[in-house]
Amino acid sequence: MASPFYKVRCKDCGNQQIIFSKASTKVLCHICGSVLAEPTGGKAKIKGEILEEYRHA
Ligand SMILES: [Zn+2]
Repeated sequence: MASPFYKVRCKDCGNQQIIFSKASTKVLCHICGSVLAEPTGGKAKIKGEILEEYRHA
């Protein structure tokens, strides 16, 4: 089963960014540097607002 990607919106600046659901490193907003996702050892903890989910067919 493929892990999805998320389109996440930064709560601080509104920037939208694509994030892997199992990101193994902290993901920062490209614009303001706010943390959008934190690794937990499995599925990343998403800090922003998830707008869409992309799965491979
Ligand atoms: Zn931001």
